[in-house]
Amino acid sequence: MSQVEIYDTTLRDGTQGEGVTFSVADKLRIAERLDVFGVHYIEGGWPGSNPRDIEFFEQAKHRTFHRAKLAAFGSTRRKDVHVGSDDQVRLLLDADTPVVTIFGKTWMLHVREVLQTTPEENLAMITDTVRYLKDHGKFVVYDAEHAFDGAKDDVEYSVATWQAAERGGADVITLCDTNGGSVPADILAITTRARQALTVRLGIHTHDDIGLGVANALVSLEAGVTHIQGTVNGYGERTGNCNLTSVMPILQFKYGRSSVPAESLAQLKELSQFLDETANLRPNPRLPWVGAAAFSHKGGTHVNAVQKVVHSYEHIDPALIGNSRHVLISDLAGRSNIVMKARELGFDVTNATPGLREMLDRVKELEHKGYEFESADGSLALLIRRALTGEERPFVVDAYHVSMRREGQTSVCEATVKVRVGKESAHTVADGDGPVNALDAALRSALVKFYPQLEQVRLTDYKVRIIDSTIGTAARTRVLIESSNGTTEWGTVGVDDNIVEASLQALVDSLEYALTR
Ligand SMILES: [Zn+2]
Repeated sequence: MSQVEIYDTTLRDGTQGEGVTFSVADKLRIAERLDVFGVHYIEGGWPGSNPRDIEFFEQAKHRTFHRAKLAAFGSTRRKDVHVGSDDQVRLLLDADTPVVTIFGKTWMLHVREVLQTTPEENLAMITDTVRYLKDHGKFVVYDAEHAFDGAKDDVEYSVATWQAAERGGADVITLCDTNGGSVPADILAITTRARQALTVRLGIHTHDDIGLGVANALVSLEAGVTHIQGTVNGYGERTGNCNLTSVMPILQFKYGRSSVPAESLAQLKELSQFLDETANLRPNPRLPWVGAAAFSHKGGTHVNAVQKVVHSYEHIDPALIGNSRHVLISDLAGRSNIVMKARELGFDVTNATPGLREMLDRVKELEHKGYEFESADGSLALLIRRALTGEERPFVVDAYHVSMRREGQTSVCEATVKVRVGKESAHTVADGDGPVNALDAALRSALVKFYPQLEQVRLTDYKVRIIDSTIGTAARTRVLIESSNGTTEWGTVGVDDNIVEASLQALVDSLEYALTR
């Protein structure tokens, strides 16, 4: 059976979700993660809808993607306009991606009421745009908006719109359940109808409005669909898109179909957490497969049975998707994770390396206090480095002071920092438009005297999260900082009851990491 292609639209449809916003730097990091994971396509955004997406594609031109093909998203040309003079289509070519995905209208209701054009002009808009993009050397994915609602209303016309895309030379035609209200039987019947009418590769794009996003995507495979669109963690507008975090392991472990590389699935939970951390969302513990509760055993009999025969109450070994059993914290798994991470960071370690036990205990202790290392590879690298090499820190912050005052309409923050490097010390003051900004400026101006290379380091992102007091203490603040020196990016973390203290920890790690590279 042919491979099922995974088309990720987390960076476009996923960002329609409530509470999901990504900076350009976030989007680039996510795209790189998805590429390493092995999805086939990454839809980066809609250049015609906002400047941030134009900027993303501009920067993506300088990146290399090894497995995935980058796609720009847009729509068919406007009515009564030559496709070559349509600005929105021009922006799609400017994005300079190997793949362009355009959506067009299937549903007569939309053709007449929303576009306010004729059925014939709509067909011409589809064929013209697809053909134009093909003539410009693009791999074209045609997204048939409202494919199922349209077909339920007027199947002959719907099929004609898909054939219009095929005539233009589309490489994939994706049927979209845009409103998310279809049931599996309808999806199967209509994709079967499309399969009979078309020879091109068929795709599916579903939404989870009635909890059937994943089921609807999977049932379409029976009609010969081999391309699934969705988002990591099911991000998306309303109740979300088809959740790829479920689709990918189901294809591998339940259907035995090939899609993403099998070995990537062991990093599925990590990918899911990375997205939540980057979106600054609290991970959903009840998410299938990757949620913290997905393999947790609370009932006494379950725990007992699981201890005797692990699969007695589990549908699959959680390690296959990088998750873990909640009651039996596997020391071995934890140890291997640290070893894997240390190797990834360039340290030569094995399961037998001395100090590993202490390192693992330290990571667990910090995680218990609220630290998260999924998006803070810089802090984790420092922790591993300190444990393995016992090196002195390149600098120590002996004292700091932050104050804030308001003058008329503007507020001014001032920070004083005292740092020590070897036997020397420096004392600096700086202003900033917030306490963290001021602290960063003061710290940096004290340190560049000793380490001029820190001049290149820039703070690219700053995220704050209040962590629950589930361990019986007061609420804590977790700060995640993203930094860049122009060629690489790294993340660092700080946790404290006080936001300024947590920020300082993350800032210190950020600069220290820059020095150890
Ligand atoms: Zn959608």
